[in-house]
Amino acid sequence: MKQDHSSMKSWNRRTLVELLLSNGPKTRTWLSKVTGLAPSAVTRLTRELMDIGILTFVQHENKVEPGRKGELLDLAQKPIAAVFDVGVTKTSFALSFLNGKLDLISHFATPETPEEFFKIVKEKVSEMRNLYDFNILSFSIPGIVNMDSSTIILAPNLGWYDVDIPSYFDGGYEILADNEANLSMLAEASYSPESQNMTNAVFVIIREGVGTGVLIDGKVLHGDTFSAGEFGHMTISVNSEETCHCGNTGCWELFSSIKWANNHYGELDGETQIDKFETLLRLAKDGTQKAIDILNAHAVNVGVGIANIVNAINPDVVIIGGALSDAPEQYFKKVEEETKKRALRMATSNLVIRPTTFKSPSSNLVGASFFAIERFLDETLKSS
Ligand SMILES: [Zn+2]
Repeated sequence: MKQDHSSMKSWNRRTLVELLLSNGPKTRTWLSKVTGLAPSAVTRLTRELMDIGILTFVQHENKVEPGRKGELLDLAQKPIAAVFDVGVTKTSFALSFLNGKLDLISHFATPETPEEFFKIVKEKVSEMRNLYDFNILSFSIPGIVNMDSSTIILAPNLGWYDVDIPSYFDGGYEILADNEANLSMLAEASYSPESQNMTNAVFVIIREGVGTGVLIDGKVLHGDTFSAGEFGHMTISVNSEETCHCGNTGCWELFSSIKWANNHYGELDGETQIDKFETLLRLAKDGTQKAIDILNAHAVNVGVGIANIVNAINPDVVIIGGALSDAPEQYFKKVEEETKKRALRMATSNLVIRPTTFKSPSSNLVGASFFAIERFLDETLKSS
């Protein structure tokens, strides 16, 4: 019986924390109403969570005395992790706090080799550690990641294989890593305004490559060997002769990455594919017809793939992010039009296709942060 009581208490505490994480600061009255827990139980549980530094009172707009009825509770602004969004040409990083806030956001050019990359990461972590105490490092990776060992199995656009991330650090840190589309899906399912109602969803991240994160029954799908959601490599053209880095031909990624759009436009200002694509987006927004035509053709290619995905998964929302986060509204309409034209009517009757909620910081960085927060809570609530 004691065991049951203790696991119920632990479940209740976690529920209160998760509610505050996804809804922002709330009163104890609100928590009691939403959970059905007695007000006295909520008071006791939240006091315990404050004692171990997880929760704190935050400023109420009516300036009620701290601890009084009606005072807002939130997760503490406690530093817990350094988070890295590893891009093919640029890596963004930040310090993550328990309440979901990110600070010290900065970036550096991604070097060619993992050795050079982790040398820079160690310097950045050490600079942050001079200011704050934390012991989790969380990485968003453009590739397939073994989450058990935090090993990058394959990051094709970086040309990195079998990279054992913990081996670059001499202990002292807990290392977390996941695929960028999975983390973006996690960010949307945990933090976005619609997260409460999100059950089955797909996040399509379009950069130099194309990845997808899949949410089924509220959980991000990783698969048996961590390669679930690799829809970028579904064949959409049987007769195409262009070879993908996966070894196959006719992959969706070859038609829907930003490289496809950049190459079809021709000369574009910018050093990297991302820079060039930003130029293309700007030209389209300024009314350059050729840029608008290329973006429309790209949207059709993206819609072709999404039609296949929604036929297979039947999500209620498909979210598009990465380099397309700031695409014009017309772009998303075109993707939706093509998807609905091709997919089964039943699969699209309630379907919403929209850009990501997270423009800056990116969904990848927010997802890596949420991954760290969940791990921190797992360990802190288990041991207290
Ligand atoms: Zn492929």
